[in-house]
Amino acid sequence: MHPLVILAAIVAVSFVLLGVAPLRRQVVSRFVLGWYRRQLPAMSQTEREAIDAGTVWWDGDLFSGNPDWDKLLALQRPALSPEEQSFLDNETEQLCAMVNDWETAQIWQDLPPQAWQFAKDKGFLGMIIPKRYGGREFSATMHSMVVQKLASRCGVAAVHVMVPNSLGPAELLLNYGTEEQKNHYLPRLAKGLEIPCFGLTNPHAGSDAAAIPDFGVVCRGTWEGKEVLGMRVTWEKRYITLGPISTLLGLAFRLHDPDHLLGDKDDVGITCALVPTHTPGVNIGRRHNPLNAVFQNGPNWGKDVFMPLDWIIGGPKMAGQGWRMLMECLAAGRSISLPSSSTGYCKLAARATGAYARVRSQFKTPIGKFEGIEEPLARVGASLYMMDAARAMTAGAVDAGEKPSVVSAIVKYHLTERGRAVVNDCMDILGGKGICLGPNNFMGRSYQQLPIAITVEGANILTRNLIVFGQGAIRCHPYVLKEMRAAQSGDLAGFDAAFFGHARHVIANEVRAFFMAITGSRFAFAPSGAAPQLRRYYRHLTRLSSALAYAADISMLVLGGALKRKERISARLGDALSMLYLASATLKRFEDEGRQEADLPLVHWSVQDAIFRAADALDGALANYPSKVWGALLRIVIFPLGRHFAPPSDSLGHQVARLLIAPSASRDRLSAGMYMPRDASDPFSTLEAALAAAIDAEAVEAKIRAAQKTGSIRAAGGEDLTLVALAAKVITGEEVAVLKRAAQLRDEVIRVDHFPQDLGRAEALRPAQPQRAAA
Ligand SMILES: Cc1cc2nc3c(=O)[nH]c(=O)nc-3n(C[C@H](O)[C@H](O)[C@H](O)COP(=O)(O)OP(=O)(O)OC[C@H]3O[C@@H](n4cnc5c(N)ncnc54)[C@H](O)[C@@H]3O)c2cc1C
Repeated sequence: MHPLVILAAIVAVSFVLLGVAPLRRQVVSRFVLGWYRRQLPAMSQTEREAIDAGTVWWDGDLFSGNPDWDKLLALQRPALSPEEQSFLDNETEQLCAMVNDWETAQIWQDLPPQAWQFAKDKGFLGMIIPKRYGGREFSATMHSMVVQKLASRCGVAAVHVMVPNSLGPAELLLNYGTEEQKNHYLPRLAKGLEIPCFGLTNPHAGSDAAAIPDFGVVCRGTWEGKEVLGMRVTWEKRYITLGPISTLLGLAFRLHDPDHLLGDKDDVGITCALVPTHTPGVNIGRRHNPLNAVFQNGPNWGKDVFMPLDWIIGGPKMAGQGWRMLMECLAAGRSISLPSSSTGYCKLAARATGAYARVRSQFKTPIGKFEGIEEPLARVGASLYMMDAARAMTAGAVDAGEKPSVVSAIVKYHLTERGRAVVNDCMDILGGKGICLGPNNFMGRSYQQLPIAITVEGANILTRNLIVFGQGAIRCHPYVLKEMRAAQSGDLAGFDAAFFGHARHVIANEVRAFFMAITGSRFAFAPSGAAPQLRRYYRHLTRLSSALAYAADISMLVLGGALKRKERISARLGDALSMLYLASATLKRFEDEGRQEADLPLVHWSVQDAIFRAADALDGALANYPSKVWGALLRIVIFPLGRHFAPPSDSLGHQVARLLIAPSASRDRLSAGMYMPRDASDPFSTLEAALAAAIDAEAVEAKIRAAQKTGSIRAAGGEDLTLVALAAKVITGEEVAVLKRAAQLRDEVIRVDHFPQDLGRAEALRPAQPQRAAA
């Protein structure tokens, strides 16, 4: 038979087999299903619950290979209500004015008592609690803005406010509590009459929190004189924020029911209960000292503490549902607290360091004008623009009803990592000024405390290596979860639809990624609603999205369950996804803020950097691919002509750095939302005044330099050059005053604190002298 006839026959049979669904299911999908079930990685109940938790949002588009940019641009810009704005401008400012990092650490080892009381009275601890329970019922955007402002002033205040509003008793009660529990606790939590904490971490279970050995046993016991069904709980928790002063301990433990008093299961599962800390047997009160951050944090423990089943959040019917509850609530809190506090620290860092770099001169030049200093300054400014964009967009998503689990991991990881990088850069720019602690050091405490944000709410190495892509690949993928669910339940029709949809998806992304790579993304879609000068970025991002989606699919096919252990591949693919997210938030911010031309250097730098990093991450994944053959094949599709993305240029960096070292609307937008002390004697206020004075003085100094160059003035034998210039009428008397003011403010700014031999301990411990009564 002619080979063409054989080929035509094969094509025709394949067409019938694949095109006729009932036939395809029986002849193809049935066998694929069997194979797929054997490949499915073993997944524990807790892993399944973690993957199922939360919602898929813009991350789903980025993972699809073909993001719908119009959808992104149509997202509503988050805004505050008049009531929220007033709280931010008044109560939050007042709380900021009551605290600072130096006094909390050196004098109080805590928030000052009056600040604690103010925070409770004004409802800072009940921002997420609805008004009907006496709370503030603020939006996620507002919650984020409050935490950000507090963090720009005082880390302890930010932590003490964000923890009760994040994953903890209030959030769990709101979502799962019984009416009785809500009516009892929420009004008390809203007014600060209860101080909550949540204890999950055990010395033996940190990152692997589902493995907590803390346990409860269902039994009968006596409670308030009556015999009731309850549980005896034994636990040992550590690192619990607010724990040492808490009155209400949210507790996670594994519940057992050996006598089947609750049902037919021995191991009921992880359970969350609310335990008043005055309950006999609860040990609470000792403190850890987390990097001198002095927020309340400590261990707590109990042995065989009897408590009624009604203390389970949501009542006995929620016994065993604790892990699901925690995973479901994690996304909202993780989207807000640490991204907002990191952005707050960085706003202060960028604004103050930019000013310092202009005020501080060495080699007769403001240090901020040296190319070497421009390099870190550019990273600081552009990172902050991007961080704030991601913070605001993510909070907006939570307000729109999303619980974006993968996005929450992205912003938690990347905003805290960037926060660390920004603060490190600022420390280097500040030199000794950043190192000597004291009331005049605005950077040292942030530097000290940033590793805390890296460690908590999912330590960063784990989050990058295991969660972002590990969860994203399953949750954000348009077909994988459907395939897995159909395979697990043996649903052949469902599996068939998902599997063949998946196959079409892979081919589409392969073709798209290759085509866009060889055409330099020129023909990719860019939304007409986007600023023309930024449209090329949307095209590159679409190309990278297709490349990521294709690499992800091939990785799941080639590596299967082993992908879970190939953390460095997973981390790099997650980095690519994260960069797409951060870049899209940045582009969206530029549109939302009305396309501020002056901010373009910030946008160009941060998006170019993100695109470069995304390509770098994909390149790294391919270079280290466990199968060299597959790595090479992926490279042919993704980088057929090599990688053509470059990091931001030095001249772009120069433009960004210039935005930080002079007052401008861009600089104000960069630091919008941070606390600006009104007290003129505050070190930050002095720095701001010194910046303005330094710029005024520069013009006068230029006149003197020009006169020196032409030889019209000369200062001999230690003469004051300013007076010589004045005498020669090169400058006026007013200009002399300008120079004097700048010099005086510069002296104040560059000053660092010094202390007696005992570093002031004796003075700090000395009791206040009683006021003498008026005669
Ligand atoms: C100041 C502070 C406040 C806290 N507040 C609370 C609180 O209020 N309530 C509460 O319950 N807990 C709290 N925690 C606990 C916090 O969430 C845990 O510290 C965190 O989960 C990490 O656990 P660990 O410190 O035991 O580190 P470990 O689990 O020992 O991890 C050590 C390192 O190993 C890495 N790692 C672990 N597994 C993997 C993996 N599979 N792949 C790659 N890397 C991995 C981690 O990323 C980390 O870098 C707090 C901790 C601190 C320090």
